[in-house]
Amino acid sequence: MELGLRTLSAKNSELQSIVYIASHDLKSPLVNIQGFSATLDESCRETIDILKGLDVGGEVMQRILSLTEEHIPQSLKFISTSADKINMLLDGLLRVSRVGTVDVNIVRLDINQIVKDVCDSMEFQIKENGIDVTVGSLPDCKGDSEMINQLFSNLLGNSIKYLDPDIEGKISITGTVDDSQIIYCVEDNGIGIANEHQPKIFELFHRLNPKDSVGGEGLGLTIITRILDRNNGAIRVASEPGKGSRFFVSLPKC
Ligand code: ADP
Repeated sequence: MELGLRTLSAKNSELQSIVYIASHDLKSPLVNIQGFSATLDESCRETIDILKGLDVGGEVMQRILSLTEEHIPQSLKFISTSADKINMLLDGLLRVSRVGTVDVNIVRLDINQIVKDVCDSMEFQIKENGIDVTVGSLPDCKGDSEMINQLFSNLLGNSIKYLDPDIEGKISITGTVDDSQIIYCVEDNGIGIANEHQPKIFELFHRLNPKDSVGGEGLGLTIITRILDRNNGAIRVASEPGKGSRFFVSLPKC
């Protein structure tokens, strides 16, 4: 069993490195695609100017102009939009895989302080949207300070993002001590998540409403699960559409 776990962990870190190296190395050819698309677009514009300067008419000229003015720039636009999208996905993959490769420094954490820092950093959004945020007395736990800060930042950020604009936003952060762990709960009275969609929200790049106005990359919760893998923790969600969501995070006791 012990050996099996070690093999699994070795395979996991090998996979992490592959993802990291692959996404890192894909960046340079992508920069070439973006750069040369821009150059081609520029050349196309110059060609149009030259053609228009020539005093030649006729069907052939019309055909060339239609290619250089419409078809080529349109195709170049698709290439560059797709390259931008790949770039965004690669950045996301790199961010996720970095969580698996950076060193973790597990220490006793003052979660009251961490949550206060996170709330302070979001003070503008909270005030601007008149959100009522209440924070209970949060027990200490064990974890990596930077990662757990990121975790609460992603959870609180989501609670703010997915509030219902038509009702007064309420968010609460509480913590309880269990037998061997501390369970924190980030609760909001936002739009909520249907039962059948709940497992999907933790998947890479998965967004329930990709075209919603609040924006996002579908990475926040994936990063949280990776953080919890590295901090011996876990996360689960309880939610109902129109009623709000509760995210329960468990982390080891001190
Ligand atoms: P992002 O917010 O960038 O889309 P996340 O991975 O943080 O990515 O969340 C994935 C999806 O889960 C979101 O697109 C949203 O549909 C849903 N979600 C996350 N948190 C909440 C929440 N507190 N209330 C309602 N839906 C949520």
